[in-house]
Amino acid sequence: MPDQEASPAAAVGAPLVVVDDVNKHFGDLHVLKDIDLTVKRGEVVVVIGPSGSGKSTLCRTINRLETYESGSITIDGEPLPDEGKELARLRADVGMVFQSFNLFAHKTVLENVTLGPTKVRKVKKSEAEKTAMQLLERVGVANQAKKYPAQLSGGQQQRVAIARALAMQPKVMLFDEPTSALDPEMINEVLDVMTSLAKEGMTMIVVTHEMGFARKAANRVVFMSDGEIVEEAEPETFFTSPRSARAKDFLSKIL
Ligand code: ADP
Ligand code: MG
Repeated sequence: MPDQEASPAAAVGAPLVVVDDVNKHFGDLHVLKDIDLTVKRGEVVVVIGPSGSGKSTLCRTINRLETYESGSITIDGEPLPDEGKELARLRADVGMVFQSFNLFAHKTVLENVTLGPTKVRKVKKSEAEKTAMQLLERVGVANQAKKYPAQLSGGQQQRVAIARALAMQPKVMLFDEPTSALDPEMINEVLDVMTSLAKEGMTMIVVTHEMGFARKAANRVVFMSDGEIVEEAEPETFFTSPRSARAKDFLSKIL
């Protein structure tokens, strides 16, 4: 291996998320076509591609918010459960941050972060609150703990959403276009939090078109188009010399 220290996430380990030959349809639409994707522990993978290419569906399938018809998905060696307690635990292992922040509107910031750990992980309230405050500190919104989501800016809400996902101590974090609903001046405050998570060794799958983030934090870029993974490469290689015509065409539109 070349100099490990130079790679964005130094301690890349054994496979954590393994998507093997997964196919999914929405009616006649073949939305995921023979998808193979392995994400190792500590790895940061950016998924990029045109609108409608299946990026969100892939994330939702990994988190079992969507079903699939063939193939298999394992998280840390365990297959995705269908329902019940097992599924709740899987969801806890896979943190998800959406484009629209999806915070509970009628709960305070602190309650948003403590809810999962107390209900699903059965952590004591006092302990959950202590951890939540540390996480809110880490994402820079500890002073907003008593407020309600609507009283926060979009960037602050998204950072709370990240803290809420982290509170479950997930094995992997999925981010689906976490900055695309934000005003431009708030994008960096969210990307900075994500970059530091990546540097700390969190395993991450990130759907984003933010190339700065990909270059700084990702080990790999996966390019999707029409339900297929068309190309995978290191960020620098992908952005400077994409191989496929579809990737070239896509990059010419966003660059
Ligand atoms: P992306 O995130 O890359 O923009 P999506 O995964 O959201 O793409 O969507 C992929 C395709 O699947 C699109 O054509 C979209 O319209 C379709 N699609 C997504 N969700 C559904 C759904 N629940 N029912 C039917 N079609 C859907
Ligand atoms: Mg999407």
